[in-house]
Amino acid sequence: MKIHEYQAKELLAAYGVPVPVGYLAETADEAYEAAKKFPQSVVKAQIHSGGRGKGGGVKLAKTPEEAKKIATDMIGMRLVTKQTGAEGKIVHKVLVTEATDIKKEYYLSIAVDNDTAGLVIIASGAGGTEIEETAAEHPELIVKEYVSVYEGFHNYEGIEVARKIGLPAELQKDFLAMLRNMTRLFIEKDCSLVEINPLVETADGKLIALDAKVNFDDNALMRHPDVVELRDIAEEDPKEVRASEFDLNYISLFGNIGCLVNGAGLAMATMDIIQKFGGSPANFLDVGGSATTERVTAAFEILLSDPNVKAIMVNIFGGIMKCDIIAEGIVAAANKIGISVPLVVRLEGTNVERGKEILKESGLNIIAAADMADAARLAVAAAK
Ligand code: GDP
Ligand code: MG
Repeated sequence: MKIHEYQAKELLAAYGVPVPVGYLAETADEAYEAAKKFPQSVVKAQIHSGGRGKGGGVKLAKTPEEAKKIATDMIGMRLVTKQTGAEGKIVHKVLVTEATDIKKEYYLSIAVDNDTAGLVIIASGAGGTEIEETAAEHPELIVKEYVSVYEGFHNYEGIEVARKIGLPAELQKDFLAMLRNMTRLFIEKDCSLVEINPLVETADGKLIALDAKVNFDDNALMRHPDVVELRDIAEEDPKEVRASEFDLNYISLFGNIGCLVNGAGLAMATMDIIQKFGGSPANFLDVGGSATTERVTAAFEILLSDPNVKAIMVNIFGGIMKCDIIAEGIVAAANKIGISVPLVVRLEGTNVERGKEILKESGLNIIAAADMADAARLAVAAAK
C-alpha cells in the first residue's frame, strides 16, 4: 500500500525524523493561508507517484499570492510523471511547505533485501531528481549496507554509509539517529520501503527529509489499522479496487490480452506463454479456487472495462473447481454483460467434457482451444 508524501512525513516526524513544516491544502485559498506562514514556500502535488518535480508538480512560490496561483493551476490538473504512465494522475491536494535553502541533496532509503532476508540501506551523495539516471550510469555512487531485522540498526552500519556518501562529520550524529528511527518505523509498521529523496543538508547545516515515500506490505495491514486509515482509494487503479471487493487477485498490466485464470501459478504461466507467442498480457487475474458465477461475471466486467483489452484468454484447470461450473459462469457472464472482444477458452480437468458442451450449446462466439499453447497462439492472433 502506498501513502501520500504529507502522510509519510507525518509518520517520519512521529518517529523523530526532521521534516519541513507544511500544511495540506485542498483549495487555492487554503494554500494561500498556509503560504502566509512562510517567508517562501513550495507547493507540492500529492499523488501516489514520484518524479513530480520534473512533471511540474513541485513549485517554489516567493509570495503567498504566487502560492495561490500555483495551487489554482495544480489542483485538478492531470499530472504526468515518469511513474504515472501517459494517462497521468489528477491532483486533488497539495502540500504547502516552508521552502528550504539547500546546500546538498542526498538519497537515503531502506528496503527489503530478498537475498539476505533482511533490510538494506541504500544511500547516495548524488541524491535528488536524477537518482534513477545516477543508479543506471554511475552505480558506484550508490552505497548499500545490509541490516538484520532481528538485531535492528547498528551505528557502525550507519557510520560506514555516512563515510561512503561523503557526509560531513558534524552531521554524522543526526544521520545515525535518522537511520535508527527509519529502521524502527520500517520494522514496527511492516513497511516495504522508506525512502527520503532528497535528504537535504541545509545551508544552515541541518539534515532534513525534503521528500518522503513510505510503502507498506499489504499482507501485514491487518496488524496496522492506523496505517489502513491512511489509504486513499482515489489514488488506486479502480479496476484493482473493484477486484479486491470480489476477492479477486487482480493486477493491471500494460498489454492487450485480458487473462482470466484460476490459480496464481497458472496465471503466471499464462502470462509467460502469451509473451512467448509474441503477445502481451493486460493483467494478472487469479479468480481463485472457489469462483462463483458472480465472481466470474465481476472478473469479466473488470477485464472489459480496460479499453486496452482486445482479446480475452480464459485458462482454467478444473481441480477443486469444476470445468462445468466455470463454463456456466462464462455463459452467465457473457449473457449478462455481453463480451465485445474475441474470447479464447481453454478448459482442462474435472468435468471438462461437460464444460465444453455447455460452451458449445450456449451459442456464444467462443474460440475453443485444444491446450494452453493453442489458447495463447489463438489469443495473440485474435488481439492483433
Ligand atoms: P519528486 O520530484 O516527486 O521526487 O519531488 P521532491 O519533493 O523530491 O522535489 C523535487 C525537487 O524539487 C527536489 O529534489 C529539490 O531539488 C526541489 N525542491 C523541493 N523542495 C524544495 C525546497 O524546499 N527548496 C528548494 N530549493 N528546492 C526544493
Ligand atoms: Mg523526491
